Amino acid sequence: MRTKSRQEELVLNPKVMGDHHRLLLLRYLRLHGPTSRADLARSLGLAPSVVSRLVRELLAEGCLVERECPKTPLGRRPTLLAFNPDYRTVIGAHIQTDKLECALLNLGGHVLARWESIIGKEPGPEQVFELLFKAVNALRRENTLGIGVAISGLIDVKTGRIVFSPVLQWEGINIREALEKGCALPVHVENDANALAVAELLHGAGRNYKDFLCVMISDGLGGGVVLEGRLYRGMLGGAGELGHTTIDPSDGASICRCGERGCLEEFCSKRALNKEAQRLGLEDWRTLGEMARRGDTHAQKAFLRFGYFLGLGLKNAVNLLNPEAVIIGGDLAEFADLFLHTAKEVVCKHCFPGGRTAPEIVLWQVGKEGFLVGAGGLVVEEFLSSPIRA
Ligand SMILES: [Zn+2]
Repeated sequence: MRTKSRQEELVLNPKVMGDHHRLLLLRYLRLHGPTSRADLARSLGLAPSVVSRLVRELLAEGCLVERECPKTPLGRRPTLLAFNPDYRTVIGAHIQTDKLECALLNLGGHVLARWESIIGKEPGPEQVFELLFKAVNALRRENTLGIGVAISGLIDVKTGRIVFSPVLQWEGINIREALEKGCALPVHVENDANALAVAELLHGAGRNYKDFLCVMISDGLGGGVVLEGRLYRGMLGGAGELGHTTIDPSDGASICRCGERGCLEEFCSKRALNKEAQRLGLEDWRTLGEMARRGDTHAQKAFLRFGYFLGLGLKNAVNLLNPEAVIIGGDLAEFADLFLHTAKEVVCKHCFPGGRTAPEIVLWQVGKEGFLVGAGGLVVEEFLSSPIRA
């Protein structure tokens, strides 16, 4: 027997249709900011009476708030309606190799409280889960909708299982199952570069673009792809793993932690710069950056090489996706003045054909909080994608 299409379901079931309109209205206000009732009806193609009824309900529930319209030259000033970011809260968590960061956020991505814990090198899942339970219990409120967890590696988002995380050496661990059991809240697990891309999309430089690539350069080099205003994950959340594209297939190329030879992150990452620093008798990538800024030519050369290879990697990605923008984030963004110009030059010169498809290359806006904000943002996205009642 043929099942009903979504469209048929909407027409046939007034309750489903009402829920659908509620979500449309909430999503619109979240994206476009304060809007009048009349503009809402026009933009959403809904009858004014339907908008009035929905707004009445949502105001009573606290999902919306009324705002005064800025001064207009003439006539009556309509009251504007806005999505209320303080209606509920979410928890964002970022599991890293050396620490666990968590935050309580409002629905607008604003951090309300923080929790941080240092963890040992290559931590086991049990140790991290225990800390996560502690963090969630310390941060959660009665109105907390759920937990978003950002972690490096391939994630099966549907089940919350880590397929493989080379950084943590975790394989087949189901974070969602463990956390949902321990905390009794819905859990969303996401690759950390994808979470960062979502944060940029909702609150950062990505608001200006429909299609962009968000590149995170830290210990390794990760990436998140946004197409048509939505995160594109691919089969296992591995879309945008730019760091593991091959840039040097020769026998002498160094072997990446993924096991392959000559990956881009062997040239463009903190790890790669640490090797350069060691070679020059310096402490680490940060000291190398500081020396380059002070005019040390060897350190400067290391960053020029870094920029050149980053440019090549980006050029390949741009030829594949033709995005409007590339957003550069991660720890290395702090030293962008030393390598971004070179990377841009390579992209502008070599993107097919003759550099014509070169996108804008900009720095991240959300900064290090982006992983937490993006992880929490995914919980908000889920909340705004399914019928809700107060
Ligand atoms: Zn690799």
